[in-house]
Amino acid sequence: MAKTELPERAQYVIVGGGIVGCSVAYHLAKMGHNDVVLLEQGQLSCGTTWHAAGLVGQLRSQPAMTNLIRYSTQLYADLEAETGLATGWMQCGSVTVARSEDRMTMLMRTAAAARAQGVDVDVLTPQQAQEKWPVMQVDDLKGGIWMPGDGKANPTDLTQSLAKGARMRGAKVIEGIKVTNILTKEGRVTGVETDQGRIEAEIVVNCAGQWARRLGLMCGVNVPLHSAEHMYIVTETMKGVNPDLPVLRDPDGFIYFKEETGGLVMGGFEPEAKPWGMDGIPDKFEFSLLPDDWDQFEILLENALIRVPEMETTGVRKFYNGPESFTPDNNYLLGEAPELKNFFVGAGFNSMGIASAGGAGRALAEWIVRGEPTSDLFAVDIRRFADFNNNPTWLHDRVKETLGLHYAMPWPNRELDTARPFRRSALYDRLAAKNAVFGSKMGWERANWFAPEGTAAETNYSFGRQNWHNAVAAEHKATREDVAVFDQSSFAKLLVQGRDACAELNRICAANIDVDTGGTVYTGLLNARGGYESDLTVLRLKEQEFLLITGSAQAVRDADWIEKNLSADAHVFLTDVTAAWSVLAIMGPKSRQVLQKLTKANLSNAAFPFGTLQKIDLGYATVWANRMTYVGELGWELIVPVEFTVGVYEDLKRAGQGHDIVDAGYYALDGLRLEKGFRAWSRELTPDITPLQAGLSFAVDFEKPGGFIGREALVAAKADPDHLNKRIIQLVVKDEAVQLWGGEAVLCDGVEIGEVRSAGYGHTLGAAVALCEINAAEPVNAEFIKSHSFEVDVAGKRCAATAYLRTPYDPKSERVRAEG
Ligand SMILES: Cc1cc2nc3c(=O)[nH]c(=O)nc-3n(C[C@H](O)[C@H](O)[C@H](O)COP(=O)(O)OP(=O)(O)OC[C@H]3O[C@@H](n4cnc5c(N)ncnc54)[C@H](O)[C@@H]3O)c2cc1C
Repeated sequence: MAKTELPERAQYVIVGGGIVGCSVAYHLAKMGHNDVVLLEQGQLSCGTTWHAAGLVGQLRSQPAMTNLIRYSTQLYADLEAETGLATGWMQCGSVTVARSEDRMTMLMRTAAAARAQGVDVDVLTPQQAQEKWPVMQVDDLKGGIWMPGDGKANPTDLTQSLAKGARMRGAKVIEGIKVTNILTKEGRVTGVETDQGRIEAEIVVNCAGQWARRLGLMCGVNVPLHSAEHMYIVTETMKGVNPDLPVLRDPDGFIYFKEETGGLVMGGFEPEAKPWGMDGIPDKFEFSLLPDDWDQFEILLENALIRVPEMETTGVRKFYNGPESFTPDNNYLLGEAPELKNFFVGAGFNSMGIASAGGAGRALAEWIVRGEPTSDLFAVDIRRFADFNNNPTWLHDRVKETLGLHYAMPWPNRELDTARPFRRSALYDRLAAKNAVFGSKMGWERANWFAPEGTAAETNYSFGRQNWHNAVAAEHKATREDVAVFDQSSFAKLLVQGRDACAELNRICAANIDVDTGGTVYTGLLNARGGYESDLTVLRLKEQEFLLITGSAQAVRDADWIEKNLSADAHVFLTDVTAAWSVLAIMGPKSRQVLQKLTKANLSNAAFPFGTLQKIDLGYATVWANRMTYVGELGWELIVPVEFTVGVYEDLKRAGQGHDIVDAGYYALDGLRLEKGFRAWSRELTPDITPLQAGLSFAVDFEKPGGFIGREALVAAKADPDHLNKRIIQLVVKDEAVQLWGGEAVLCDGVEIGEVRSAGYGHTLGAAVALCEINAAEPVNAEFIKSHSFEVDVAGKRCAATAYLRTPYDPKSERVRAEG
């Protein structure tokens, strides 16, 4: 074949000819953007792709990821007809079996959630599972599920087919060329340097698989991933193993099986993985494997022999040990890098790159062309990580755990154990001494709950009530009736200053933030579709100085969103000041009495109304006190210079002694906010939900001068009679013993209509409370709520619930049925 000439310039340069790079090229070209050059240092698929097992399972931990794979399955089925190159796609279905009651509960929950997402799934008895997969023994099984839409593909053929589809539409695919540097100018990418010359480019896409981290570092972009060894074997032929045998997953044994040339591919996800490539990934790794490691594989083999005893007498044809890149949370990395304009990343596929590539490639191509994602992709958005997540020692220790997460029990509230503690607030040791049980968010160690004295400070996971239920009930009660302190230092804090700060922020925020100095405004940041990119609180410190307090996980993403939306010549400076300030929230009816003991400031309603902030003295410290609440009670968020945090905390605890003050954690906070109906970003508030659908119109100012991003879409939505068919509603479960965790299917008159986005226990209402997204065939208004019955599917059991558009928790009038 004649060597393709290296062009001097291209609109899009993609680095990496694995399945992901080829999918991005294919989708860009399909969208009519064919000035694409894909550069591969070896041959197409020679990196990780060629040795993948080729399983395509649709169900993932996040609905957005499941949706992308559902698209992959359609694409893989149709691609051969389009390109003439076979993909090896076969919709053979999959069986997943459960060895324990807990796993069966989990599968039943999964089945309900899958159905709510439109994925076909049936629950199986052990015997039915065996009928579908006769080679296995089922004596120890509790049951399973059947997903007819799952399948398998040939990764190399699929990659070639995608590349051909891209070429057919004008894209250039060049093999045997290595990108040696990324060219940048004034904060944006301008091209790539290769071992054969330079190509100028408007957009560069990093699809370099396990090399993507190093490629990122060439231009100051963090791509937090680390390689780990990943293994499977292929057996000699076995009786009863036919090409149409479904894929089998046995997650309690950490293993999977699929048919290959009459034998079985058997691999898995062991609980403790073996990191690889600590000294860097070699350049020359074309079609290469790592040495067999039977010791590491032993746990998988032992379990395979339990499931398929015949393997004992069947020979092994080949051992595959290939490195694959894993991320800190087992979700991949997609999107424009916040550090460098026009530099996009699609990498870190955590051993689901074959299944995900179709959907992820399309999503990334759309993001590139349209300048923003076209649906909610936060679960895989590269901006969920910060520079500290790219620390190689931390990544090394973390990926030991993330590989195994594929088949680990996804317990509600499950926390990762490795590479912790990572980020610690000034109060970490003090709270640990009080029996705090920590969880981790954006790397911060945060007290989830406080174990009573004399009990173990650890969470025992289960799908029913967990061991913290009563302790959290006490924290909840104290917040509603007395006073509690929450360490919320992990809040992200962004300082926005400059001559144009007010005007620019007001255009980016949906509410009017041009309030008096000392005003505090709750607002959404909306996209052009009117959906939530964030919700946060804006504190006006000075005329042109604003402190934005936002979710712990949102620092990078919110900063990026704001900076991208600033006018070109605006005089505005944004600084992440998260590390400089702690936040201690003192909440509850007695919070004023406690605080008043420590300050000369007047805390009365008249002098310090809701929605305002003041700099006040507090003991020896000087702090910002912000009259806000996320729990629905009287309270202040104290924004404290980090070095004064311990002093303020000790003062609060001392002053609160006579008022029954308690420490409270994030589980209590969640139950309190859910009871009050307060929405949370990335749970209820997503880029696909508008304030009208979320019931938050009060935080939108349609009339403010200059408008705001998303206004036109919201005005159109108001006039659209169908817009409110999709809504966020609150459910309170009737049976007080039921426990919800989120992700459950919601039924309206017995038919799936949506899902629980977040759930907790409302200890004041005495029942499980949930905020749910529903999609009806008619507007969801008070009449709709009144005239239908609602249930939640809890692992196959339907639990009746009462629906509300406004919270039934109101301190003045308890359990009032809401009006629309
Ligand atoms: C044993 C094993 C089994 C697996 N089984 C499955 C499965 O059943 N299902 C599934 O969905 N996934 C599976 N996977 C995962 C899947 O293989 C990967 O997620 C996927 O192949 C990643 O594709 P990619 O395009 O991101 O990376 P790669 O295929 O590695 O492609 C990246 C390419 O970039 C090139 N490159 C890097 N640096 C440069 C540079 N500087 N210049 C030019 N080119 C460069 C590399 O040569 C490489 O070809 C498995 C993985 C392993 C290891």
